Amino acid sequence: MSVPVERVARCNCGALTATTTGEPTMVAMCSCAACQRRTGSAFAYSSFWNLDQVVLTGEPTRFTRVADSGNAVELSFCPTCGTVLWSRGRRPNTINIAAGCFVDKDFPAPERAVWDTLRHDWIEHIDGIPSHPEQGG
Ligand SMILES: [Zn+2]
Ligand SMILES: [Zn+2]
Repeated sequence: MSVPVERVARCNCGALTATTTGEPTMVAMCSCAACQRRTGSAFAYSSFWNLDQVVLTGEPTRFTRVADSGNAVELSFCPTCGTVLWSRGRRPNTINIAAGCFVDKDFPAPERAVWDTLRHDWIEHIDGIPSHPEQGG
């Protein structure tokens, strides 16, 4: 039997980490207003795990908001660098880890896209955006 894959997600300063074992139960992108504001990006890239797959370190600051779905979501972010590394919603055994915080270009792609009424149109056309291997000129 092969060893389950282990991955580490962390905030920008490294004070918070989330180490995962195995594969996420689901990967999603969300274009809701709160996710756009939280990330400063066009959508959130989220991975969902069972709690027993994840080991967390660090002391986050927590912020609870009511999602557009009507459910309460508790966001945990680094008090030093501000990265929102994980969040907990209505499912008690599930944790959402910000998929971008793994900085793994081979991380699984979203299996579903939610709040597409607010999804930016350009996301359909990213193949046409000029590409640079690093920052570019
Ligand atoms: Zn940090
Ligand atoms: Zn959202």
